Amino acid sequence: MGKEELDNVAVNHSAATKSLPVWSDKIIKNCKGDELFYNYAADRNDKDIIEMVNEKYPVRYTVYLKKLMKKSEAIRKQFLPSSKELSTIGTPTPFEEGKETSKTYGLERLYRDRVLMTPFFDCPAYCRFCYKKSRVMRGKRGMTFEEIDKAVTEVGKMAEARGVLITGGEPLMDQEKLFYLLDKIMELDNISEIRVGTRTLLNMPDIYSDELCDRLASYIRPNFKDPSKSKYLAINVHFNHPDELASEVIESCHKLNSRGITLRNQAVLLKGINDNIETIKELFSMLIRNNMIPYYFNHCMPVEGSDHLRTTVQKGLDIYKHLCTESSTIIPNYVYAPSGGKVHVGPDTKFDYIPQNGTQLIRIKMLYKAEEFRRLARKELPPMHKETEDGYIQGIYLDGTDD
Ligand code: SF4
Repeated sequence: MGKEELDNVAVNHSAATKSLPVWSDKIIKNCKGDELFYNYAADRNDKDIIEMVNEKYPVRYTVYLKKLMKKSEAIRKQFLPSSKELSTIGTPTPFEEGKETSKTYGLERLYRDRVLMTPFFDCPAYCRFCYKKSRVMRGKRGMTFEEIDKAVTEVGKMAEARGVLITGGEPLMDQEKLFYLLDKIMELDNISEIRVGTRTLLNMPDIYSDELCDRLASYIRPNFKDPSKSKYLAINVHFNHPDELASEVIESCHKLNSRGITLRNQAVLLKGINDNIETIKELFSMLIRNNMIPYYFNHCMPVEGSDHLRTTVQKGLDIYKHLCTESSTIIPNYVYAPSGGKVHVGPDTKFDYIPQNGTQLIRIKMLYKAEEFRRLARKELPPMHKETEDGYIQGIYLDGTDD
């Protein structure tokens, strides 16, 4: 979505729901003209390459992020373009939820008990390692109200589904749709767990007004007479480095926490940013101290343009093993994700490597049955995946490198 469309989003929304903030105020209008844009260019040649990167994977960040980036290299590396992004190692679409060919636009199901819904496909700031960059940066339209109705009806018929993960893009950029969707989901008897994934706590923490926090907390619905009918809403936050936990950020997190909303962090392991024990320990300790759960520690997905930020899966395991010797409060789920689904890594995991052209692939027999995948996802197994003799999915994952 371009700036003009963003402005339209802001205008349309403020007309429809008076309390909505004007998003375009929070986004740097022209990142290419911004003083930080060429931060990783050593010379004119690098600048030219960075302009090509910007054509291929647009650059966007917020006014608030700029403030943080001025102080933190770890945050600059996550949002400012690098000439290394022209590398074509990886795949453009490691996960493809919500693409137009989905049977129901914006709805994706890979697992038995939960579905993904994407009401809004764009973000106010583009993480350079985003594995959804094929759609987040491409101006894909959000779900229409009719599509939300259709998707929710469909979810209501999924007897095994009990959770909905509302993801993005950035669901909080279109609050009218988000709250419409949440109201609809609340009517479903089978759905009790709602999670909203967002990075706005980092890139625009000031949107968390009392009104917004109250509204989000209103979806926590304990049922004291019959606790098996309780429903809750939690927020999946995304912090990768202690520098991101600035005062304004923590204040907004606290506003949500203090209203009973659980915040769970999904960190991504990033080369040169947090790929060492000290940084991760500090990050997770600060999260705990500030009432957030270190929930996932994700290996960076093999999406094109992110190769320079990807370590080996083993490097993450080395960090994870160390965490296992610490207090259990800072032990997240360490996972990597071939296109067929998440794979949990334990401290004793041994990888089955297939060397290939100077890099290595990891072959993994997943916990999911191929037949079930086809039934739930309503599509064939992804590329580089096949069915094993006993009916499970065998996936292949492109490892990163350490240097
Ligand atoms: S916040 Fe999430 S979806 Fe948006 S650019 Fe970053 S990684 Fe991608």
